[in-house]
Amino acid sequence: MATERTFSIIKPDATRRNLTGAVTKMLENAGLRIVASKRIRITRHQAEGFYAVHRERPFFADLCGFMTSGPVVVQVLEGENAVARNREVMGATNPANADAGTIRKELAESIEANSVHGSDSLENAATEIAFFFKPEEIVG
Ligand code: ATP
Ligand code: MG
Repeated sequence: MATERTFSIIKPDATRRNLTGAVTKMLENAGLRIVASKRIRITRHQAEGFYAVHRERPFFADLCGFMTSGPVVVQVLEGENAVARNREVMGATNPANADAGTIRKELAESIEANSVHGSDSLENAATEIAFFFKPEEIVG
């Protein structure tokens, strides 16, 4: 197994409920190291670009509205098999289907307000990291 970097967002439903620390703790407990982190408000333009793959889906406008509804915390996570490990600790997209002990099962509100984003491949992780971070902002 290789050391990888993946990209995470703590979504507005979680920052609103003051769960930044709770989410971060669960990521760290899963063996992931936070090597970059910043709290930002993403613009509509950024949200639409970030979720462009979903632009034809019926929930696209709502999703972009939700992602711009409050602050988010964007993070780079590093660790063995980080992409898969993060997806594992996040749990299924719909918290109702997520396994016990996952972030979404324990903390998420709904399929949309599901507390975290995580890259779904190493290739997308690199693209998403570059979308929000300059190389010098990542300190491993
Ligand atoms: P993410 O990309 O945020 O890590 P994911 O990979 O588990 O989540 P995707 O299929 O990529 O799920 O969907 C992106 C996001 O769009 C979801 O996290 C959720 O916030 C929202 N979403 C997905 N499906 C629905 C739906 N049926 N209704 C409302 N929102 C949805
Ligand atoms: Mg996804």
